Amino acid sequence: MNTKKTNKDPKNPQNKAQDVTALVDNFLAEAMNAGASDIHFEPTENEMVVKYRLDGVLKTVEKMPKLLSENIIARLKVLGNLLTYRTDIPQEGRIETAGHNNQGVLDERLAVFPTIHGQRAVVRIFYQRKNLTELEQLGFSESIYKTLKSIAFKNQGLLLLTGPAGSGKSTTLAAILRNILKNFPGKSIVTLEDPVEIRIEGVTQVQITPFGEMTFPTALRSLLRQDPQVLMIGEIRDAETAKIAVEAALTGHFLMSTMHSGTPAAGFLRLLEMGIEPYQVTSSVAAILNQRLVRKLCDKCRKQNEKTGFFEAVGCSNCLDAGYKGRALIAEIVELDGELRKAIAQKTDLEELQALLKRTGHTNMLTDGKRLVSQGITTVDELNKVCGILESE
Ligand SMILES: [Zn+2]
Repeated sequence: MNTKKTNKDPKNPQNKAQDVTALVDNFLAEAMNAGASDIHFEPTENEMVVKYRLDGVLKTVEKMPKLLSENIIARLKVLGNLLTYRTDIPQEGRIETAGHNNQGVLDERLAVFPTIHGQRAVVRIFYQRKNLTELEQLGFSESIYKTLKSIAFKNQGLLLLTGPAGSGKSTTLAAILRNILKNFPGKSIVTLEDPVEIRIEGVTQVQITPFGEMTFPTALRSLLRQDPQVLMIGEIRDAETAKIAVEAALTGHFLMSTMHSGTPAAGFLRLLEMGIEPYQVTSSVAAILNQRLVRKLCDKCRKQNEKTGFFEAVGCSNCLDAGYKGRALIAEIVELDGELRKAIAQKTDLEELQALLKRTGHTNMLTDGKRLVSQGITTVDELNKVCGILESE
């Protein structure tokens, strides 16, 4: 990774506290201008390394002398209203976004963590999204698109999305909600989000207050008394939320939410681990959609390999030498059918569930992604990396 030199004068050991203030402000502004989703401040043995996450990939932007590191973290903690004198515990907070509104920044979350080399910090940046995408424009394969469309017509049940942070789940959820609104203009739709990233006309959106009293379970319980027909819950993080969500899905509500699990099969088992009874899982869950974003080859510099016929990343000024620009969606979806229901009812394990899906012809995410490789949109390397595969199969 190349290290960019800036005019922040980081090599000057005489930097004073006020310079650190400007330095930190500079990093925040620069990262937001670049559209970074996260800023990492990572102390190593001799340095303080600053990285931005751009298009999902961490890029080192600055390496600073170690002696600045505690001052930088202290400044971040002031911005995030954290206890500056506590350097031995993890702390989380929010940075006031008032000053950065022109970049369309919605929220900034700060997390500080003590390590053997000093405290490290991550600032996660949430942007207000303006370019709303229709469900048919997201780039799902024809069959996944059709499945999602038919699920969006349901009056009852649970649709779960899995995938790590930054895999485009919020965009998909917003597109499905807008699809529901388009087909059923009168439906009462409520969302619970942390934070509200995409504003949707005609939907009641509620923001969870981080570290406050309005948590997912408490808000969800009260909201169900507001007679919603469709509910979108930002994330199912705990057993309590999972339980209320499943009960709501069994009593005449259509729910959508996200969950952390690597695959759809793992998603089903995660619900069981959270204490949901197998019969509740099999009668409430309509489907689990798993998605990731792969980087798209820069169309100004991509090059076709004569031997394989596939395109490869090169790098040019258009893509800042990354070889990639923008991202595209890959996905897999598992609907609950008879055989799968039987397996879940018997509390089968992950290995057996995966085997069952393979046997019944499930198209996994890697296979879905190969359509993008064959179209020259992304590379085999990128696809394998995103799917967590070390060597090409
Ligand atoms: Zn390029």
